[in-house]
Amino acid sequence: MARVAAVVVAAGQGVRAGGALPKQFRRIAGETLLEHALSAFAEAPKVAFVQPVIRPEDLALVRTLTSGMNILAPVSGGPTRQASVRAGLEALLPRSPDIVLIHDAARPFASANLIARAIEAAEKTGAAIPALPVTDTVKRVDQAGTVEATLDRNSIRLVQTPQAFAFPALLEAHQRAAAQGRNDFTDDAALAEWAGMKVSVFAGEPGNIKLTTPEDFARAEAIQSAALGDVRTGSGLDVHAFGPGDHVTLGGIRIPHSHSLTGHSDADVALHALTDAILGALADGDIGAHFPPSDPQWRGASSDRFLAFAVERVRARGGRIAHLDLTIVCEAPRIGEHRDTMRASIARFAGIGIERVGVKATTSEKLGFTGRGEGIAAYATATVRLPWD
Ligand code: MG
Repeated sequence: MARVAAVVVAAGQGVRAGGALPKQFRRIAGETLLEHALSAFAEAPKVAFVQPVIRPEDLALVRTLTSGMNILAPVSGGPTRQASVRAGLEALLPRSPDIVLIHDAARPFASANLIARAIEAAEKTGAAIPALPVTDTVKRVDQAGTVEATLDRNSIRLVQTPQAFAFPALLEAHQRAAAQGRNDFTDDAALAEWAGMKVSVFAGEPGNIKLTTPEDFARAEAIQSAALGDVRTGSGLDVHAFGPGDHVTLGGIRIPHSHSLTGHSDADVALHALTDAILGALADGDIGAHFPPSDPQWRGASSDRFLAFAVERVRARGGRIAHLDLTIVCEAPRIGEHRDTMRASIARFAGIGIERVGVKATTSEKLGFTGRGEGIAAYATATVRLPWD
């Protein structure tokens, strides 16, 4: 099977969209264009390596946004898009892929199907680009805005990315163009044509739009918001008793304490409540139904596996977790000083930003089992956005 890599170029200054940051860091549906674009390829089963190309000054930001994503370390781009693609290709050289897909981060909605078809087309022809037919009549005009000719729209296509190529041939073409001082190609197909490669087209997707202007962003936000309009809230509750030990595991982090929590797994009440909240939002059973305590394989299990399972169930339905909120009830240990570490931990397991995770703690004023220090209770809610039907 062909080894497939993807280069995602995000090294532009693009501020036409408005705002202080380049457009690859503007958000649609809560995620930056760069995250949308990278995760489309990182989650594609046939893509083995995803190589982001960025501006060096954005490295810290990109690291934060993509922590936990299955991608290669970003490399720095050049002064032009063409130079940035070449930097990405050269970084991939040690991985020696057979096929490479080149994609612009400004197109956040490339579908899994489009990516699969791009790979298939490149395997067949060695150079293939997604294209759409033109439905409007097309004119050529002069500088003064006077029509010179009406073009035959049947022979015109609007071209998108990802563009897919045999890796060695594209790398060689890029290096030859650079050596000859040619740095004016606006897409990789143009460079491949110049190098003498035959470029074929396959069907692009109308939804695979390139976002440039503020109007593009507003339209994309509206489309995304409507597409994930089935907003669900789930709740979860869990309790574990104290037993002998020297620490508790809460929200995936270890907190020193005079006791531990007892249970079949690591007894992380916080992650258990969150897992049930997400499953509740999906109306998809509960943690006990999916991970029966009678099953020995969950003995001592790290509870982030349960949360990751619920998160995957959301993803499998094409949904997103919009928000998680957790309340921990105990007299001790003190939670406040661990709040942000716990938020970061939960955010990482759930694959969402830390700003989407709330952690609160309270005592129960010495009342009830939590008040008597017999155990810890955790309450959680999850807000999940799913596509309609
Ligand atoms: Mg439990």
